[in-house]
Amino acid sequence: MSMPPAPPPLSDKLLEPGLYVVSTPIGNLRDITLRALDVLAQAEVVLCEDTRVTGKLMHAYGLKQKLIRYDEHEAEAARPRVLAALARGERVALVSDAGTPLISDPGYRLVREAAAHGHRVFPIPGASALLAGLAAAGLPTDRFVFAGFPPPKSAGRRAMFEELKPVRATLVFYEGISRTADCLADMAAVFGERPAAVARELTKLHETILRGTLGQLAADPRLQAPKGEIVILVGPGEQEAATEQDADTALAEALTRMGPADAASEVAKALGLNRRELYRRALELKGEK
Ligand code: SAM
Repeated sequence: MSMPPAPPPLSDKLLEPGLYVVSTPIGNLRDITLRALDVLAQAEVVLCEDTRVTGKLMHAYGLKQKLIRYDEHEAEAARPRVLAALARGERVALVSDAGTPLISDPGYRLVREAAAHGHRVFPIPGASALLAGLAAAGLPTDRFVFAGFPPPKSAGRRAMFEELKPVRATLVFYEGISRTADCLADMAAVFGERPAAVARELTKLHETILRGTLGQLAADPRLQAPKGEIVILVGPGEQEAATEQDADTALAEALTRMGPADAASEVAKALGLNRRELYRRALELKGEK
């Protein structure tokens, strides 16, 4: 059994009252920030999804603050009490079982109401499976869409994927482990041969990141009945190369509104083509008239 981490020095600066949205580890207990520990040590109350799960984290760092369950079922009833605690000037920490609260986890309504009542809301950033998956997948990260959990049944899943198909961005999904194989098969059917990655058990002992096309991942025997937790990431599709005909059509339309230089710039940007060649062609098209 590994030794629990030694408690690090905590800040002696008294934190302001308010709601603290605190990220906690997604596996490796050491993935917690010093600031998160300061908050968990000073909060009058820590709201959590499961007192046993958060209790383990608190115990590992020698923290003993009061834990109150705040999950989907308890939220409605508990919210007025939380708002009353904030009104008394208390520090309230919100955590989830793992990662960043509100990211496919409860808390959004509480944050909205706390802010509406004039209370400060402090984000305490840290681990999230979404960002850890993106960091290791090797897919473009300049633009990404977090799509959360796909619907559980194939028809609903495919409808969601069809909706996301035209989006030029890396798509990030959370998925229940038992649905991984079916989900990948539906992704391969809808998105085709896009590059993708399955990030399993991030930050934990059996961390594995499998990369390949969706077809390869859907057929990978290691993903037929996997264990643990996974994030699925799908790279953006290749933009189909614009044809000469596409360029001529776009240029002809642009030339009705602007001169050849501006038309060439606009079409170059829209279709990802060479501006100088388009300019030459724009002059030709103008001459043809
Ligand atoms: N709030 C969390 C976050 O910030 O990542 C996510 C909570 S959501 C209820 C749980 C899902 O996150 C899992 O089903 C899985 O898709 C993903 N997940 C959480 N921990 C993970 C890990 N260590 N490795 C891979 N995926 C993980």
